[in-house]
Amino acid sequence: MKWFGEWRGPNCEAEGKIATPVGFVCPWCAEATVMTDNGVMLSDWRDDEPVQVIHRECFRRMLLGSIAHIERRCSCSVPGSTESDPPEMTKREAAKLVDDWAERNRHWRQKEVERARQN
Ligand SMILES: [Zn+2]
Ligand SMILES: [Zn+2]
Repeated sequence: MKWFGEWRGPNCEAEGKIATPVGFVCPWCAEATVMTDNGVMLSDWRDDEPVQVIHRECFRRMLLGSIAHIERRCSCSVPGSTESDPPEMTKREAAKLVDDWAERNRHWRQKEVERARQN
């Protein structure tokens, strides 16, 4: 997977790093990418598909679902629930909640691995 910015996900090979593609409209939040963004570039699904440049937070939101889904407050876990992305937030802001969660969770997992090594 191609990626850009100051991060490196578990599925990001070092050689997959690309120069930040500026001015691409993210398919999730519809905001254009800028130099300081982190994200991924998806290409060659099919020859007739253009490349997609997606913010890291938006990509995680697409993969993981809303923060309500992750925290089991949505209709998947609570019958009749209408919880989803917070309505007062933009799609990008709501995606950042998921991104923060993923970062926290990653660090937590890292600590567990370290603890297991020490014991
Ligand atoms: Zn986005
Ligand atoms: Zn759900």
